[in-house]
Amino acid sequence: MRLLVVEDEQKIGDYLQKGLEEAGFMVQLSRNGLDGYHMAVSESFDLLILDVMLPDIDGWHILQKLRAAGFTTPVLFLTAKDSLSDKVKGLELGADDYLIKPFAFAELLARVRSLLRRGGRQVVPDILEVDDLILDIPKRKATRGKQRIILTNKEFSLLELLVRSQGEVLPRSLIASQVWDMNFDSETNVIDVAVRRLRAKIDDPFATKLIHTVRGMGYKLDVEDEI
Ligand code: CA
Repeated sequence: MRLLVVEDEQKIGDYLQKGLEEAGFMVQLSRNGLDGYHMAVSESFDLLILDVMLPDIDGWHILQKLRAAGFTTPVLFLTAKDSLSDKVKGLELGADDYLIKPFAFAELLARVRSLLRRGGRQVVPDILEVDDLILDIPKRKATRGKQRIILTNKEFSLLELLVRSQGEVLPRSLIASQVWDMNFDSETNVIDVAVRRLRAKIDDPFATKLIHTVRGMGYKLDVEDEI
């Protein structure tokens, strides 16, 4: 799940990014409204977290422009203003939820998950299954058969991406941008190393292999027909 956070206060922005990444989300951070707006229209996000008070264009303005342009991505507003008219204004403009600063991180996380479950563009299942592999997304837990598989945060995100794209070949560049949030550099073999480590955990000990290398193209996860 990719989230965009638009927040000009450095401490809050860093704190949100770190906390949400630890919770397993991929987070892009913009520290001003215009960049945030351009990121929201040029990249694909599952949820936007918009601060209202920004130095250039405010959160309301961003939301208004996005909705006018036809973007239905769910929006959670962060506002320091605790007045009824501000809340009403935000919701009328098409915000899906709002939080008053200061807020507890657990509360933010609960709202984020709830908005993602309600789904803007897609229904997001909490449990993903392929063959005997089960991913419990909220708990970040992977099992095959009855065996629990301990994964690092990145390994889990990589596996989640592969499972959500079951049967599709994912180029390394796409994996790099989705899981590492970096542009692909052909010098780096970080993706291959990560896939090898993931395979050692989820495929090597088991008879049915799920992750497949597609030569010259990338990787895919699927249950291959046995011939
Ligand atoms: Ca602000």
